[in-house]
Amino acid sequence: MSRPRIGLTLDVDDALVRYELKRVYVDAVLAAGGLPILLPFGDEQVAGAYLALCDGLVISGGVADVPPELYGEARRPRCGPAKPVRTQSEWAFCEAALAARIPVLGVCGGMQLLNVVRGGTLFQDLSDDLGLGCHEQPPPKDRPSHAIEVVPHTLLASLVGDQQLHVNSTHHQAVRTPGTGVLVSARAADGVVEAIELPDVPFALGVQWHPESASAHDDRHAAIYRGLVAAARDQRR
Ligand code: MN
Repeated sequence: MSRPRIGLTLDVDDALVRYELKRVYVDAVLAAGGLPILLPFGDEQVAGAYLALCDGLVISGGVADVPPELYGEARRPRCGPAKPVRTQSEWAFCEAALAARIPVLGVCGGMQLLNVVRGGTLFQDLSDDLGLGCHEQPPPKDRPSHAIEVVPHTLLASLVGDQQLHVNSTHHQAVRTPGTGVLVSARAADGVVEAIELPDVPFALGVQWHPESASAHDDRHAAIYRGLVAAARDQRR
């Protein structure tokens, strides 16, 4: 059986010279039976041309925050650095994939972008906005550090079950107001949104943790990538 082609968005270094992507993303797609395709930055036309080569899309995480201006807020001091060139490109990829009903997985910052693309907002800093400092765990970053409750009868529950799941946590922002058509499908005990999905398309899932590395501790995390690849295979048919 041929491998569905899974596009992966890239980060860029601070000097905006080198593309970067943690290898675990690529390995997770390979392990799930997909063929990783690394996606250079591009405008809507370029994004559309690349997506024509892809059956699924992963919007990866990274150290940059979505510019608050994109959800109608002024930047506050604890908001992290922005990489507008990266965000613009990922926005184009995300919109194009949703319009074409191509399966999308948003990871960490990729989940936050998915929410903002749909008109939602973010907490700029969980410790500043809510007094929650516990979502940025110390190394090792792959080790689960808090539990989440998965909402039954959701796409996420179909992949990982609706039992409690232990996740790693390396974020200081989170979804504040879900965007249009955005369903919250998991929360931490403190109420922080840990997963979102878009029931109006075949497969669009955002997870606030990093299943590509947490899978070393629990195979249910790998089921998220397997679900994306299976949806991409359906999409191709
Ligand atoms: Mn968390």
